[in-house]
Amino acid sequence: MSRFSQGDFSQRMSLYKGKAASLEVAALADAMDRMAEQLNERIRTIVRQHNELKAVFSSMSEAVLAVDTDERVIKLNKAAAVIFTVNEKEAPGRLLQEVVRNIDLQGQIKQVLANQEPLQDEIILQDAEGERFLQTNCVPLHDDSDRNIGVLVVMNDVTRLRRLENVRRDFVANVSHELKTPITSIKGYVETLMDGAIDNRDDAVRFLKIVTKQTNQLYAIIEDLLSLSRIEKQSEHKEVDLTVGELRKVLEEAALTCQMKAAEKKIRISLQCPENLRAKMNFTLLEQAIVNLVVNAIKYSEDGSEVIVKAEEKVEKDGAKRVIISVQDFGIGIAKKHLPRLFERFYRSDKARSRKLGGTGLGLSIVKHIAQAHGGDASVQSQEGEGSTFFISLPGQNADA
Ligand code: ADP
Repeated sequence: MSRFSQGDFSQRMSLYKGKAASLEVAALADAMDRMAEQLNERIRTIVRQHNELKAVFSSMSEAVLAVDTDERVIKLNKAAAVIFTVNEKEAPGRLLQEVVRNIDLQGQIKQVLANQEPLQDEIILQDAEGERFLQTNCVPLHDDSDRNIGVLVVMNDVTRLRRLENVRRDFVANVSHELKTPITSIKGYVETLMDGAIDNRDDAVRFLKIVTKQTNQLYAIIEDLLSLSRIEKQSEHKEVDLTVGELRKVLEEAALTCQMKAAEKKIRISLQCPENLRAKMNFTLLEQAIVNLVVNAIKYSEDGSEVIVKAEEKVEKDGAKRVIISVQDFGIGIAKKHLPRLFERFYRSDKARSRKLGGTGLGLSIVKHIAQAHGGDASVQSQEGEGSTFFISLPGQNADA
């Protein structure tokens, strides 16, 4: 009996009832045992439900924070603890201002406490990786008897979404700008010709040559844009045809395509690739990617220098094989600050030079998309004044076996 009163329901009273026990005592012992059984079962259910709730709460990807009416933290989950860099277990009981050092979120919580109205907003947090955008949903928190006991905040990390929106917005602005530049120039020269310059043959020829150059630039931009959207669409729908083929053939074909451009600058293209190196690839796309890299290497190198096109197999730490294609030049190189953004559409480390050389600013982004369509990636290493090496890494022959 005393064990029961201490909350231990594991013992059974009927085990102790001796022969001497009266009928009433025996019946009481049975009733107590049944009660203990039921209580035990209920407690087990409550503990199980509590653990389930705890597991759901802590494994939610949304950050959750509950605050009481005195602006003290009631509870927060793991995701929230990570966001606010606090200890999940130590935060409860502490003042909101100590735990959440974000004035906007504090303001939102105060507003909901005062108005008792749900509120949806956004906050921006600054961390080591830069800005993080969090969508916040604050709702008044009520207990069983509908008494207000605080505010519940659920936060979603929308950083990726915001970045994508920015990229898209920048892209539209960039395309418009890129198309406008040659069109403005064409328009200007055509008007000058119509205003009389056409009667002076020398001027007319000079202006028409510029118009032709700008038209080619327009054409190149549109070709690259179409190419990019085609590759993106195909790889989104997993429509890129990949077959196992010899890498040496792709490298040779790409080098041949660039031979004229290289010869104009007396640049030597050397190939290094084992005879039997094979990978799963789309020959045409991979050739286009290598051509883009070699054309750049030629463009951004001095006359008479060298471009090395290489393919080799590497074994990763986890034992997976990868094929690494590299295009190395000894040209102007790229400043470190440009490297992280170099594969973005229209990103140029040297705008004036790129335009002068007829660049569209899309070549590298096409390379990246082609690499990704192969389940691979593109990267760069460069030293200003010494040259650059661009890499395309593809899954090796055992990677998808
Ligand atoms: P572009 O058509 O302007 O060459 P890309 O997307 O091919 O566009 O390249 C983006 C930018 O990266 C270029 O404008 C140039 O500034 C830089 N770049 C690319 N390849 C090289 C290279 N081999 N050496 C130096 N800079 C390079």
